[in-house]
Amino acid sequence: MREPLIYEISSPGRAGVNLPECDVPATPLPKEYLREDLPLPEVSEVDLVRHYVRLSQLNYAVDTGFYPLGSCTMKYNPKVNEEAAKLPGFVQTHPYQPPDTIQGNLFLMYQLQEFLKEISGFASVSLQPAAGAHGELAGVLMIRAYHESRGDHKRTRMLIPDSAHGTNPASTTMAGYETVKISSDARGNVDLEELRAHCDDTVAGLMLTNPNTLGLFDEHVQEIARLVHECGGLLYGDGANLNAIMGIVKPAALGFDVMHFNLHKTFSTPHGGGGPGAGPVGANEVLAPFLPGPIVVKERVEEEPASDEEWEEEEMYYYHWQMPPSSIGRLKAFYGNFAVCIKAYTYIRMLGAAGLREVSENAVLNANYLLSRLKGVYPLPYNRTCMHEFVLSGRLPDAPDVHTIDIAKRLMDFGFHPPTIYFPLIVPEALMIEPTETESKETLDAFADALIQIAQEAKTNPELLHSAPHLAPVARLDEVLAARQPVLQCLK
Ligand SMILES: *Cc1c(COP(=O)(O)O)cnc(C)c1O
Repeated sequence: MREPLIYEISSPGRAGVNLPECDVPATPLPKEYLREDLPLPEVSEVDLVRHYVRLSQLNYAVDTGFYPLGSCTMKYNPKVNEEAAKLPGFVQTHPYQPPDTIQGNLFLMYQLQEFLKEISGFASVSLQPAAGAHGELAGVLMIRAYHESRGDHKRTRMLIPDSAHGTNPASTTMAGYETVKISSDARGNVDLEELRAHCDDTVAGLMLTNPNTLGLFDEHVQEIARLVHECGGLLYGDGANLNAIMGIVKPAALGFDVMHFNLHKTFSTPHGGGGPGAGPVGANEVLAPFLPGPIVVKERVEEEPASDEEWEEEEMYYYHWQMPPSSIGRLKAFYGNFAVCIKAYTYIRMLGAAGLREVSENAVLNANYLLSRLKGVYPLPYNRTCMHEFVLSGRLPDAPDVHTIDIAKRLMDFGFHPPTIYFPLIVPEALMIEPTETESKETLDAFADALIQIAQEAKTNPELLHSAPHLAPVARLDEVLAARQPVLQCLK
């Protein structure tokens, strides 16, 4: 049964609101603005509420169930973040206001820059970019600006491991570089031999995700950094997997020169439909001057202290915007996604340093627990202790007709969002599972039980998988067409 359209529940004379008596003289609308072909639905308040709440429930959400989408870090988004973001002092400000009227906002952004510096070990952070991919573009443009500032124009190639996210080659191409693919070795690390063979004075840098998208910590990260630096290149860090290492190791200490953060992953701000994201970039001393701007800086204010003693002890600061000296420029209107910054700041303040480390420890523990329950059941191409996620294959030896897409669709019948599938590309029929730290053992067990049952069904009743999902409002969409030409009102 499909959900009725709002017009189909319309009944003449019903109204959802009672407007107050008009207390100004009525003026007829100009004729040219009136349309005969735009009848408004007439529905009562309760019908309207039920209509939209039912529609909202057709969507799967992290607030309704487990969402183990690998690489996406679909952790629970604490509601206190939303409370903070809607405080009137934040909501009722505008980016055109002069800095002296928004010192609180600027203080928050400054502090967030400082927190991200502390977590990553970088010298400077810009909150400008609006997403991880946007941060990548910023970082690659910074690398480019750095080489050009030294008159080094021969560097035309960016090295990218074959386990990388598709946004890495996309950002590289947008920044005008040629992408060179580097293979992974049998343990899922960057193949050092192949890397050595490519290191020369045409290399602008290497983009590395660590832990990588197999959920594995590259065991040679420092050697990789050394090789890239030795040939004059720079090391870009794709920070999407920061949730595995917060408070444990600082990416700058591993040899990265520049890295993006995904606030909507690691720092619990909503993804996609829940609001925009943010992809701040951090850089070491060498690349900091090239950061996109403006960034927030503070200045000591030498003010007459107020008469009472408490005031005298406090240092006074004035916060304002500044463009880094060799900045690649602005990447976004105004100053980044401020509301997202408030949520990430709140998350960091709620947890504190010890709490952030615990987040990563539990994210890794949860992933290894799930892995230990599933590794005898589904093939595990890289059999190592994982970080915050792991990659199985849906190619079951005793069910040759069953594909990963069937397993993913069948999982929906058990009430779970499917994991990431067919990525990373180097694992055939990949099932990429990231449970995050916010899930209980009961949830992890229920998910493992479902996947174990599905592996059994694949052998005994593969048709059940081929025809899945059986309970979802829509079943198997042409995903490309669904994104390009969405038909939103026509549900099964
Ligand atoms: C999510 C992700 C990105 C891109 O980040 P967006 O915020 O989605 O633009 C890049 N690399 C990896 C490994 C990711 O998981």
